Amino acid sequence: MVDQAPPEARSSRRRLRACHECDWLVALPPLSPGQRANCPRCGHTLATRHRQPAQRSMALAMAAMVALLLAISFPFVSFSTSGVGNRIELTHTATTLIGFDQPLVAIAVIMTIAVLPGLYLLGVMWLQLGLLQDQPLPASRHIARSLAHLNPWMMADVFIVGALVSLIKVSDLAQIELGLSFWAYCVFALLLLFTTQSIDSDWMWFSLAGEPLAPEGTRTGTTAAPQGLAGCPTCGLVNRLEASGRGHCLRCGERLHARLPHSLQRTWALLAAAALMYIPANVYPIMTTTSLGHSDPSTIIGGVVELIQMGSWPVAVVIFMASVIVPVGKLVALAWLCLVVKRSNELNAAHRTWLYRLTEFIGRWSMVDVFVVAILVALIRAGTLMSITPGPAALAFAAVVVLTMLAAMTFDPRLIWDTPLPRDRHATQGTTG
Ligand SMILES: [Zn+2]
Ligand SMILES: [Zn+2]
Repeated sequence: MVDQAPPEARSSRRRLRACHECDWLVALPPLSPGQRANCPRCGHTLATRHRQPAQRSMALAMAAMVALLLAISFPFVSFSTSGVGNRIELTHTATTLIGFDQPLVAIAVIMTIAVLPGLYLLGVMWLQLGLLQDQPLPASRHIARSLAHLNPWMMADVFIVGALVSLIKVSDLAQIELGLSFWAYCVFALLLLFTTQSIDSDWMWFSLAGEPLAPEGTRTGTTAAPQGLAGCPTCGLVNRLEASGRGHCLRCGERLHARLPHSLQRTWALLAAAALMYIPANVYPIMTTTSLGHSDPSTIIGGVVELIQMGSWPVAVVIFMASVIVPVGKLVALAWLCLVVKRSNELNAAHRTWLYRLTEFIGRWSMVDVFVVAILVALIRAGTLMSITPGPAALAFAAVVVLTMLAAMTFDPRLIWDTPLPRDRHATQGTTG
């Protein structure tokens, strides 16, 4: 029989968590299905409880996998103009780019739309299969640790938006027909989203490896770092760090740091690189449309202006948001957070954390324009009549997206909260023992 009872029903110990975003130490309350525990200081979600977590994730992951397999087996979309046409499959969006000497963009596309989501789903199925038999399968801990790292790099939902934008862009020039694979991919994107949200990581880690006792003398209602402790970002366990401020999680093996090493320097370096790449991304054409021997290169902004002239306001707004507002806003927001981090206080820290979460959340949506290029280049192949080729800006812009995502990941939000606490805060703290 599978023990799907929540951890608090299987252990009477107080389970401690250190908030990953503000380092506040709290004891997890008992949770009922559908409930979540949020950090009392910054609001970050510490644990989410689901009913029947193993069956739920397993069912969703299997359904999503079937949808993904259907999506790569059938025609994705086809176009025709003046009797000439082309039909593509999902994977052609990446393979065609290799033919135009854009292997890096091709890798970014195929990884984010199919390979990483596929691996993620296999990982979820492997894990839950073990948990359903009450006997974790080999390598379960490694896989469970990897799943959390894969999450931000899966972009099925962004790809759907990219596909819709591309189709609207060419709908005036040619006849477009959506294939079975297009609909399968929409279903897959939705199921993948449900799968990632179905993972009850607190229950999963408890079932995989139990819950080692928190270090003796851990005080809640204060931060972890001054006590020489750190909360594991992957499984949540509170661990004692070595004197150097580093360590490894006892339960999942994740590397731990009191604060991410050289967080601000690394974030600055990545932001500078992203800002630098944003210049060629805008100066060079992102794609060139050739129609009846006439070549028309267009930059990101040029593409937006063209869409406005065509009267496609909504699509122009989507591209402008994804390609200009989001990356520039992200660069500015992260640079500002780095600049003012030392002057944080409890009053503005919540707002700054909210801004940080926003930059982390919206970053991947900038990939829309890269996907638009990938789809159009693969689809619009009608020789001299009409064809679209990728420009050098595609690689530069993909680099901007990846670099800003990495910059958000290297920024340690706990630094925002690292302000000396007033003395009287320490008076009402509890102690474990
Ligand atoms: Zn917090
Ligand atoms: Zn851990």
